[in-house]
Amino acid sequence: MAKDGHKYIFVLGGVMSGVGKGVVTSSVGLLLQQKGYPVNLVKIDPYLNVDAGTMNPTEHGEVFVLRSGMETDQDMGNYERFLNRDLTNADYMTSGMVYQSVIERERSLGYGGKCVEAIPHVRDEILRRIEEAATYNGSRVSVIEIGGTIGDFQNALFIEAARILKMKYPDDVLFVMVSYLPTPGTLGEMKTKPTQTAVRDLNSYGVQPDFIIARSKEPVDEKRKEKIAIWCNVRKDRIISAPDISSIYEAPLNFEKDKLGDAMLDALKLPEKKKASLAAWKKFALAAVDTKAPEVSIAIVGKYFDTGDFMLSDAYLSVIEAIKFSAAKLGRRPKITWINSKQIEKGGAKAIAELKKYQGIIVPGGFGESGIEGKIKTIQYAREHKIPYFGLCYGMQLMVIEYARNVLGLRNAHTTEIQKNSEDPVVDVMFEQKKHLADNKYGGTMRLGAYPAYLKKGTMARGAYKKELVEERHRHRYEINPSYIKQLEAAGLVFSGTSPDGILMEIAELPRKVHPFMLGTQFHPELQARPLDPHPLFTEFLKAAIAQKKKR
Ligand code: GLN
Repeated sequence: MAKDGHKYIFVLGGVMSGVGKGVVTSSVGLLLQQKGYPVNLVKIDPYLNVDAGTMNPTEHGEVFVLRSGMETDQDMGNYERFLNRDLTNADYMTSGMVYQSVIERERSLGYGGKCVEAIPHVRDEILRRIEEAATYNGSRVSVIEIGGTIGDFQNALFIEAARILKMKYPDDVLFVMVSYLPTPGTLGEMKTKPTQTAVRDLNSYGVQPDFIIARSKEPVDEKRKEKIAIWCNVRKDRIISAPDISSIYEAPLNFEKDKLGDAMLDALKLPEKKKASLAAWKKFALAAVDTKAPEVSIAIVGKYFDTGDFMLSDAYLSVIEAIKFSAAKLGRRPKITWINSKQIEKGGAKAIAELKKYQGIIVPGGFGESGIEGKIKTIQYAREHKIPYFGLCYGMQLMVIEYARNVLGLRNAHTTEIQKNSEDPVVDVMFEQKKHLADNKYGGTMRLGAYPAYLKKGTMARGAYKKELVEERHRHRYEINPSYIKQLEAAGLVFSGTSPDGILMEIAELPRKVHPFMLGTQFHPELQARPLDPHPLFTEFLKAAIAQKKKR
């Protein structure tokens, strides 16, 4: 038996990628948690990057920052949102991270002169990490998502580690294969063959799935379940139909209807501690897909639009979700329009004037020069036309630059990220960052993770949070230059949140009597927005956006 009776559920993908392993992992986690078992969710990314921090969002979607500061995959964001709790470094693993530990150990003679090899050394490092995550989190069940698809070269060692764990603890390890059943247009019939082939592939690793989550356009019928059961050697009641849904938040409700949680407890030989209570979740999930709710129109002006393998929305996933949560709370349906800030630069005055169509504008986080003049023009328009504006990280820095240029009259105000020798560097590189940049040390060196901020009395920020001390997650190298703060404040900008020592500006805003909502945060509030605990600043921003329509 595994230590303290711990249970492990591995989630693997068959047939093809992008069918929702992450949602299955999160949903299984939520169901077991609701049934009284503390759960931790682990994401394994097979790539060689040590973390997700060095990847462009158009390559791999948003970089999700944990409370600790670790830069991870966007799936970790979904895990935290479903579980409604913070995850830890132990819950995230990449091949790069695993190999780095093995190589560091080899360099320090940690293997006692042995030849260091993928099997057993790399495999055992994976196992060590999986078991450590279980202990570290004090959970009872670990749900572990192995990235990629069965048959990939690069995730094979992880599957092998999972197989060994099953050998060690035969009664404590389950395998869930998330598969896809296509319905070719010409046939009009759902096909099970790709699933059969994927199971056979998995069998060639020595692994047999205990559950098959059958993703498809329509629900999987009994006949097809029988076929899969026979050909894949999986009990029919453990083949779970998972048809397309309009929102990922419906998934746990559908799984609960199919008694997936009970079936898993049964397979793990765990007693049901309590009935899963999904009432609050259901209320939120229904509000999130309520097509009759009145609309609130939000423009997101960003630059990660040249999508490679990933969808545009992946680059700003947490921002979109944060909007959804607050909108659901306020009984509104968000209509998000994507605006490429480079188009605003090209389109001139006409493109800018189009912005009046929106009830609120967000400029999210970003890096580098491309599209920033378009963002600054957008911010100027929002300020001058009193359209609610919410700036996230870069969106706050650019809001301060716009204010310095157009209100303070410092026409050349800039960030040293773009203009090294700026005449008026109102946004400047943080002192401790200078060395990292000089040494080309980009990975994991930003100001990352949770830091406290004090909120000034009487400000919008303080009113929204309803408390004095908050903690928010960061990811930046630049900051508001302390030597410009006095001037900016004298010109009417309010720094409503600062680091406890008062040196770092965490929130900038305009007083409500000047503008209905003009606020930017140096941190990323979107990373802590949760379905059942929407972020107060997003809620406040949307309230202002909703009121905006009435005024027109
Ligand atoms: N590029 C800016 C910085 O490094 C903003 C970063 C961000 O938006 N996450 O400070």
